[in-house]
Amino acid sequence: MYVISACLLGENCKYNGGNNRCQWVVDFAAAHSHVTVCPETQAGLPAPRPPAEILGERVFDETGKDLTADFVRGARECWQLAEQAAKKRGESIEGAILKSKSPSCGKDRIYDGTFSQSLTDGDGYLARLLKEHQIHIITEKENIEHD
Ligand code: SF4
Repeated sequence: MYVISACLLGENCKYNGGNNRCQWVVDFAAAHSHVTVCPETQAGLPAPRPPAEILGERVFDETGKDLTADFVRGARECWQLAEQAAKKRGESIEGAILKSKSPSCGKDRIYDGTFSQSLTDGDGYLARLLKEHQIHIITEKENIEHD
């Protein structure tokens, strides 16, 4: 079973009220067992909402509001949902396909907290959690070998 960012499958959960639909991810999801997650929606944040970026060990939205607790909780709850779904299906979590650069879903490179489209090394909160559990992550920018 795979964990997939909801916005990559066309759900309008992105901060601007839109999505990041990615055709190869949609095709992959149609052919593979998966669970769809959006940590920020899970945390109760609305769409649209101000964009947020990680700065140091905290995350702030563009208005300066500290959303760290929401992001931590949303990521944790998404991981728990994924674990529960895998257990219920009698499957293991084989990997994750997450949206690049996001303060929740981004892997290896994320926005740097200056809201200037600049990137820095780091992971979003969900990606950190999945890495802690040794889940292999790719982003929509990479492509997975189809079975
Ligand atoms: S990048 Fe992650 S947190 Fe942001 S909208 Fe997509 S699924 Fe939700």
